[in-house]
Amino acid sequence: MNRRRRTMRKALVGGMILDATGAPPVSRGTLVINGDKIEAVGQKDDVPIPPDSEIIDAHGLTLMPGLINTHDHLAHPDPTDPLTDYQTEYARLEEDPDRDLFPYAIRYGRQELLDGVTTVRVVGQRGGVDFRYKRAFDSNLAPGPRIIPSGAAINSTHGTAERLGVLADGVDAVRKAVRQNLRDGAQVIKIFLTGAYRSGVAYHLTTPMFSREEITVAVEEAHRFGVKVIAHAFGGPSVRWAVEAGIDSIEHADLITDDDLDLIVSRGTYIGLTLLWFFTDLYRKRTPEKAEAAVQTVRRFHEAGAKLVLGGDCIHGDHAMVRHLEILTQCGISPMNAVLIGTKRGAEACGIAERRGTLEVGKDADIIGVRGDPLEDISALRNVRLVMKGGEIYSNA
Ligand SMILES: [Zn+2]
Ligand SMILES: [Zn+2]
Repeated sequence: MNRRRRTMRKALVGGMILDATGAPPVSRGTLVINGDKIEAVGQKDDVPIPPDSEIIDAHGLTLMPGLINTHDHLAHPDPTDPLTDYQTEYARLEEDPDRDLFPYAIRYGRQELLDGVTTVRVVGQRGGVDFRYKRAFDSNLAPGPRIIPSGAAINSTHGTAERLGVLADGVDAVRKAVRQNLRDGAQVIKIFLTGAYRSGVAYHLTTPMFSREEITVAVEEAHRFGVKVIAHAFGGPSVRWAVEAGIDSIEHADLITDDDLDLIVSRGTYIGLTLLWFFTDLYRKRTPEKAEAAVQTVRRFHEAGAKLVLGGDCIHGDHAMVRHLEILTQCGISPMNAVLIGTKRGAEACGIAERRGTLEVGKDADIIGVRGDPLEDISALRNVRLVMKGGEIYSNA
């Protein structure tokens, strides 16, 4: 890793610029960064390079905004990590949800950043560990992405995610849990509306784990404070309850009905896809039909006009975000749309589109440079050569 000291201005010169506004790329562009913000961007001939700039040669690279992973838990074992025995670690966590998982976040935060993911929205961590690793990354004590922390995910006593949050039963307890997270600094609230896969085994995937009243109070409390609420839900009646209550995103959503989908589309609710699990060895062994079904599900959501966003959800290996984007293109989504989903749309879903998600003047200088043209082949995003977060370079190979 090669981290340079911050100078006033940097100019990235000669690269193709894919600004992720939806506009066609600029073939030879210049990007000027002043401090941690983008100061100028455009065709080489239209953008003068200020004399005090450090020049960075970007010929052969496509420059685009850093990827935005909208659903993850960095302090959690990864089933694809060759250094961990996932099943053993998972079993230990079920026994003792208070196990200290901070070291995982240091490992996966670095991996995500160097793979071009400059923002990660965390959606459930126990004991405030996400606030702690956010501090480590923000202060550059450890390399890692910007973190949008959730604090403790809200989970019912008979739910599956105590290891990712806090238990709350009843309207008052849910209200208290939301308020505690807001007090702790949560920038998103996460609630577990249904069961989940436990190490690949389905458990109450469509059973409502909260009443309509509990869900509604969570949404109201958070929204009054200006914070978004997102729900873990595979399907079942609580999807409708949550969307009608104004929830901002349904995560996973694999088993929602066509009526649910219509409602989600008409309300503009996001769907957070976390498909990578279905492609792991663990799931292929236990639910082999899910990988093919996932492709059909994405087609169905996309054709209905749903606003899709992506999350690694504990999976970081094999350029996880890019792998996810590759799957989208296999579902009939164009490479341009896939890029937009991984950048601009992710920023919109997280409520940070004014600052991130596109390369525009005044936005955060969160920029990646990849060798090749991702609009021709989305897999070019695997060839990350430059990662910049807040104007600072984390890798420049
Ligand atoms: Zn989940
Ligand atoms: Zn998750």
